[in-house]
Amino acid sequence: MPEKQPRIIVLGAGMAGILAGIRLQQMDYRNVTLYEKADRVGGTWRENTYPGLTCDVPSHFYTYSFERNPDWTRHLPPGPEIQAYFERTAQKYGINALTRFGEECTEATYRDGRWHLQFASGHRDSADILIAATGVLHHPKYPDISGASTFQGALFHSARWDHSVPLEGRRIGIIGNGSTGVQIVSALAGKAGLLEHYQRTPQWIMPVENGRFSAEERAAFRDPAVLAKAMNVDEYMASVEAYTQSITDIDSEASQAMAQACRDNLEHSVADPVLREQLRPDHLPLCKRLVFSPDYYQAIQHPQSRLVSTGIQQIEATGIRTVDGELHELDVIVFATGFHADAFMRPMAITGRDGVSLADFWHDRPKAYLAVTMPGFPNLFMLNGPNGPVGNFSLIDIAEHQWGYIERLMARLDAGDCTEVEPSLAAMEAFETERVEAAKRTVWYRGGCVSWYLDAEGIPSSWPWNFQRFVDSMAEPDWVAFGLPAPLET
Ligand code: NAP
Repeated sequence: MPEKQPRIIVLGAGMAGILAGIRLQQMDYRNVTLYEKADRVGGTWRENTYPGLTCDVPSHFYTYSFERNPDWTRHLPPGPEIQAYFERTAQKYGINALTRFGEECTEATYRDGRWHLQFASGHRDSADILIAATGVLHHPKYPDISGASTFQGALFHSARWDHSVPLEGRRIGIIGNGSTGVQIVSALAGKAGLLEHYQRTPQWIMPVENGRFSAEERAAFRDPAVLAKAMNVDEYMASVEAYTQSITDIDSEASQAMAQACRDNLEHSVADPVLREQLRPDHLPLCKRLVFSPDYYQAIQHPQSRLVSTGIQQIEATGIRTVDGELHELDVIVFATGFHADAFMRPMAITGRDGVSLADFWHDRPKAYLAVTMPGFPNLFMLNGPNGPVGNFSLIDIAEHQWGYIERLMARLDAGDCTEVEPSLAAMEAFETERVEAAKRTVWYRGGCVSWYLDAEGIPSSWPWNFQRFVDSMAEPDWVAFGLPAPLET
């Protein structure tokens, strides 16, 4: 613990911000505030409330390592249970008391060795250390389809679900077939009077089990030893390794096996050969973020469901007109059209040393040294920042490893080894050059598709190596990159 308590501000009280708040308290930092723009914790799980919302990471792995949850009802965690878990955990660890809710940070400027923050409310604050836990995939992307404002029914983005709109028996159009659109269609099939799923590009669907945990199992999981055994960490880590190998090496056995599982799923689950071909992608599985679903193919074959693979021409007062001239009359339209994956901390205006803006620094693409720090932005640490393993592994696991790395950096400030921690530009550029080269070998680049993994130049923006490399790179900072000698204790 430092003698003089540094002022630490965490932006965001979602999964990563809660983690930071817990860890900072455990490290005995006493001058900590979290700022959250909404009125409660939860981040993406607070904002996404669409029917069928589920995480495709196995339930017991979708928790902090120090706060397992024996109460998950299903093998894959349902969205409302995840939100309840974060609210419960935040309460238990005193995070709500540390957090100022309803405060949106609009500007952060590094001046005179401190971060000066401006909030939309007019409030100001400053900090020695700034932690950006602002999330990924949270700025809804609205499609460029003309006529949306003329629609007389209900129309909203999947991440802004309007729960006042009745769904039972209505004619509902879902635009988009990523993980979100597929989960919504699975949830609404048979409930909607007519469910139309608008597919621009077919997606591979990986079958997955999503059974229930019985009351007896959940009771047994209260014993940490029973839960640890049931989690079968070795098996899970093997599946993570197979998943990443399929991404990094399209010729690997793991890749072939995953592709075959997707193809078999399509062949065996879709009876109508015409529909089957409409659903068949022409890119490699995992090129786009793989969609896991136990029941999408059943849902789309429901008598009240219909796949629309003809392009959308425009939205009109009463529905969607496709390019073949057909007007599809609808009561509700949902844009399951994804997110601006390159936003990260933006639109916050961040200015580093010597007036360098993040907008300029990220002019070509968002970049960071190992996803956590950036040259010219001292004492600013990111959780789930750019070019980290977003979309590969459990983001909670990732944040925990990144936090371990941040703790080591902060220890150098506490020890008085430096007053500013930031990587050199050369270290970041060397990392970025190597990363881009590796990214070009991944299925995201070579798989023949367009996806949110690709930046404006068509380069995959995510971590292009396996999980172990990520864990190793977070285990101990390369102090040369930070212009520091190795700490004495190592
Ligand atoms: P997404 O994967 O980006 O999918 C967006 C969909 O909208 C695509 O099918 C896209 O078609 C379609 N689309 C976009 N603009 C369109 C237009 N103008 N006309 C027609 N179609 C259009 O978004 P998402 O499904 O919300 O998922 C985003 C990410 O969130 C996922 O990849 C995943 O990482 C995460 N997520 C995870 C889970 C989970 O279970 N863990 C659940 C939900 C979301 P094209 O393919 O043709 O571009």
